Amino acid sequence: MPVDVSKRRVSVARADFLDSRVACPFCGTKVGPRHVTREHLDVPPNPAYAASIVCPKDKEQFEVVFTT
Ligand SMILES: [Zn+2]
Repeated sequence: MPVDVSKRRVSVARADFLDSRVACPFCGTKVGPRHVTREHLDVPPNPAYAASIVCPKDKEQFEVVFTT
């Protein structure tokens, strides 16, 4: 069964992400700054508005978009 691509983008508060309170949309594992593969520092605005994540458990990739 194909992966639901709509899960590949989650919107979270930056503070929740920095405290690793964001759950992987595929398996629920908590992810945080140490799971970032690419922070979008190259694109305005600064600080980064989003980060690319790889889940440490199932290796799924998704984007975390910061709402605050
Ligand atoms: Zn996962």
